[in-house]
Amino acid sequence: MQAAQSAGDDPADAPDLELLARSLSPSRAADFMTCPLLYRFRVIDHLPEPPSPAAARGTLVHAVLERLFDEPAAGRTPAHARQLLGPQWDRMVTEEPDLAGMFDDEQQRAAWFDEAAGMLDRYFTLEDPTRLEPTHREMSVQAMLASGLALRGYIDRLDVARTGEIRIVDYKTGTAPSEYYEARALFQMKFYALALWRADGVLPRMLQLIYLGNGEIMRYEPDEADLVATERKINALWLAIQRARETGDWRPHRSRLCDWCSHQDICPEFGGTPPPLPAEPPADPATAHPATAISVPPPRPCEAVPNTI
Ligand code: SF4
Repeated sequence: MQAAQSAGDDPADAPDLELLARSLSPSRAADFMTCPLLYRFRVIDHLPEPPSPAAARGTLVHAVLERLFDEPAAGRTPAHARQLLGPQWDRMVTEEPDLAGMFDDEQQRAAWFDEAAGMLDRYFTLEDPTRLEPTHREMSVQAMLASGLALRGYIDRLDVARTGEIRIVDYKTGTAPSEYYEARALFQMKFYALALWRADGVLPRMLQLIYLGNGEIMRYEPDEADLVATERKINALWLAIQRARETGDWRPHRSRLCDWCSHQDICPEFGGTPPPLPAEPPADPATAHPATAISVPPPRPCEAVPNTI
């Protein structure tokens, strides 16, 4: 039984900097689509961003859902998921001590924990984890496109049915998007599907987004034409990023998403001035994990049939 590869499993896997400079993750692709200047601040300038309670709660809930499947099926209960919250939070704070300073007082911290626990409870209304045996969790996926661009990312969960059909699952701690933002949410999933398809030649059967904020599931069955179109879009996006790198023209794009941007004080859209561009742009930090191979671990069949492939 093969476990999913994780970044950093093998210390001999030194980062290939040349490859990193030609790689893109779904998060950074989304950043550029949201606002080229935001992409620059994150990827080129590496500007720090204060920890956000919403993002930290997402990380915590993801960590609990990942660890939940360490338990034998019968132990995957709402009570056990809640028990995992404390230890996972302690681990996060050990790794990133700034997180502890996010709360003004104990009451705020307790309310934040309650929200995370509520999301976990909601998860159990959407899926029955006792009937699932994920093939991979937090799986590193990497693939090289014919254009020379490397796709990289982490898939929350990969289920493989006995029939070999693949389902990519992503947990979201927000609410399901309006129709306007639906395509954006699906882009990330198609990105992963394309990476799997190009790496192993297997077209995933189902893309599934689980929204723990409001208890909705979005499912989509991609076909080859979808993924070919996604590949075209990603290649065009990469060309636009390269153009911005060459010209230094990282234009701000004001939108509702600016409300969540940590860089308003240095953004021209808000009267600020960006810092001078660094001379040597470093590699995309979201993809700066040690590379293992341009492939994904071979899927093994689930021991239990996933609910809904
Ligand atoms: S505030 Fe808005 S326009 Fe400015 S960098 Fe952030 S996302 Fe872009």
